[in-house]
Amino acid sequence: MQHLRSCWNSRLETRRTRPVTADPVPKNLPFLYGSWPFHAMGHMQRPEDAKMQIEAQKVVTLNYTLTDNEGTVIDESSDSTFAYLHGASNIIPGLENALVGKTSGETLSVSVPPEEGYGERDTTRTQSVPKDMFPEDAPIEIGMQFHAQGPDEETIVVTVTELEDDTVTVDGNHPLAGEQLNFAVEIIEVRDASEEEIAHGHVHGPDAHHHE
Ligand SMILES: [Zn+2]
Repeated sequence: MQHLRSCWNSRLETRRTRPVTADPVPKNLPFLYGSWPFHAMGHMQRPEDAKMQIEAQKVVTLNYTLTDNEGTVIDESSDSTFAYLHGASNIIPGLENALVGKTSGETLSVSVPPEEGYGERDTTRTQSVPKDMFPEDAPIEIGMQFHAQGPDEETIVVTVTELEDDTVTVDGNHPLAGEQLNFAVEIIEVRDASEEEIAHGHVHGPDAHHHE
């Protein structure tokens, strides 16, 4: 407990997580190949050029619906604003692996087991902490998430699961740990990543690139 207290000092801040990636998502990008077939004018454009396959160093824009095994929708993105850099561990391994070789316009269903998603649930990662470790000006509610530092100095996200007068119970498991994740995916666009995106390991939007 003492260790956590010292580590958590001034580290607590609210944060919204996306189950798939925490990176900022860019606005939709021009859909380069949407008007194929072209008429040859000048130089040849072959159909195979128009369908870029998903592999490392490609930026993939996709729509998805994520449901649990009861069919409850956990998360979805349907406005073509979700993009990730393939091969950079931006998304969970089970989904990333299933997308290899796919092209824009394809749809697929992927059922990802916990070990290829957010891991199994670890009951030892739940604990009660004094309420005064949290910022005084922020009302604490069940379901809120905070940044904290874990035992190996890594940043973890904890979720408030119980509230009492002086203590708060937090769960350091990812909210989707232990869940079978069922994705219905539509691939909107596949493009080459820029050198800067590859160097940074994430997607940049079409405007200015901004970091948190
Ligand atoms: Zn960047």
